[in-house]
Amino acid sequence: MSKRFAIIGAGMSGILTALKLKERGITDFVIYEKASRLGGTWRDNTYPGLSCDVPSHVYAYSFELKPDWTHRFSPGAEIQGYFEGVAKKYDLDRHFRFDSEIERAEYRGGRWHLSIKGGAADSVDFVIAATGVLHHPATPDIPGLGDFKGACFHSARWDHSVALEGKRVGIIGTGSTAIQIVPALVDRVGQLVLFQRTAQWVLPLANPPYSADEHAMYRASPEALQQSYDFWSARFVDTFARAVIGDQDELHKIEAACRSNLEENVHDPELRRRLTPDYRAACKRLIMSDIFYPAVQKPNVTLVTDGIERIEAAGVRTKDGVLHELDVLVLATGFDGHAFLRPIDVIGEGGLRLADAWADANEAYRSVAVPGFPNFYMLVGPNSPIGNFSVILISELQLAYVLQLVDLVLQGRCHAVAPSKAATQRFNTALREAMKGTVWVTGCRSWYLDRNGNPALWPWSFDRFRTEMQAPDLVDFDLVARETTPQAAASS
Ligand code: NAP
Repeated sequence: MSKRFAIIGAGMSGILTALKLKERGITDFVIYEKASRLGGTWRDNTYPGLSCDVPSHVYAYSFELKPDWTHRFSPGAEIQGYFEGVAKKYDLDRHFRFDSEIERAEYRGGRWHLSIKGGAADSVDFVIAATGVLHHPATPDIPGLGDFKGACFHSARWDHSVALEGKRVGIIGTGSTAIQIVPALVDRVGQLVLFQRTAQWVLPLANPPYSADEHAMYRASPEALQQSYDFWSARFVDTFARAVIGDQDELHKIEAACRSNLEENVHDPELRRRLTPDYRAACKRLIMSDIFYPAVQKPNVTLVTDGIERIEAAGVRTKDGVLHELDVLVLATGFDGHAFLRPIDVIGEGGLRLADAWADANEAYRSVAVPGFPNFYMLVGPNSPIGNFSVILISELQLAYVLQLVDLVLQGRCHAVAPSKAATQRFNTALREAMKGTVWVTGCRSWYLDRNGNPALWPWSFDRFRTEMQAPDLVDFDLVARETTPQAAASS
């Protein structure tokens, strides 16, 4: 009997899974998506200035390179268009179930039983969760947030009906998102007030457009396009990815570049002082921008570094007693990067709830699977190298690994596969140990850190990741021959 698959999430990883299943001749699968269209983060984020700060030539599936990106770091809408184009090319339309939020997934009788919001249900043999990382907007716990009388929205829920021209606009936050919004808004708004809790290191990367000649060249020469992909991948792996896991030489180079960017491009010594971080570069997600410093120095921008006391009807009151009157307030306050899969109620073998298994920390085996949850896989799950490399390549490597585990079942070698508890513990112990050498624990607050202070990232090299993802070590897995529980007998 053919096996059925559910993919949860129609973002980059969900689309990837769908087309790879199709490539293998597997067509009995559904992509459940709670929103009304595909795209994940590129659907949700539409804020002014949105682009990807990973070069476009690597921010693409390795087998679907695009010759005509408009910019080195292309805008969000273009990336959304890319994913829509890939889904169309691979004819995935009939597999999507939009407006279909999975509320519960329970492993019973050797299969996964899914409950979908609104009452529908499905039963499948495999679940591949492609639910993303930066998905749940974080609302800051600032007193009085609901009192503000103007328009107020999170950066990932941009309200395009709100006119900004000539308005007094406040932005809370100075993460990658806010730093893209500021230059995009500065010339549209009347006053822009940027509320900075923590200064950021900024690497001045330029974003030149690709010319028509370059487009023609990349169209004519797949080799040139591949070379560009390889070039940018190598740049990542050989520099940034090394620096964050402890290569001090690389880290010093990044620090020096950020420091000279600040010294050369922020002219007022007092502003420079307030924009100077007191922690190591790349401890928080590094900002890549050569347009933020020019924008923040424009006369209609105020950088506010006094802490926020509360929000009032007329604006934001800071701890020095000043009320910053505003018409619009943007919360560029980031995401809960640790809510993997939540709020789906995932129930594994013997009634084990994922929420309980992860009560203390999100612990997976090599980011892709959890003991007690057979035939259930995650892409870009806990401790994936998301801060280190292009997330698309990460997802591709993880999926190739997962599909080898799936093959064990498809080939009839067993009924179900799950990682062993012991192997998962070993992996997580090694992770925690290796984190001690990374820049993420050198003394800064960031969304990378979970509530125990452990970074949710990958502390080793890209080579190690690629090697680990090459083939599963079956010693680390429990291969279940056949479902033998009373429940199974009852439902078979
Ligand atoms: P973020 O990096 O988590 O930044 C959130 C900002 O909000 C920080 O400056 C934080 O201050 C501030 N904040 C949060 N709560 C606050 C409060 N109660 N009062 C005052 N300030 C508060 O979020 P993000 O900028 O949305 O970026 C999240 C991640 O998305 C990035 O790190 C990156 O991985 C990804 N991203 C990528 C791109 C791209 O181009 N590839 C673009 C945008 C985002 P503190 O620093 O003091 O905590």
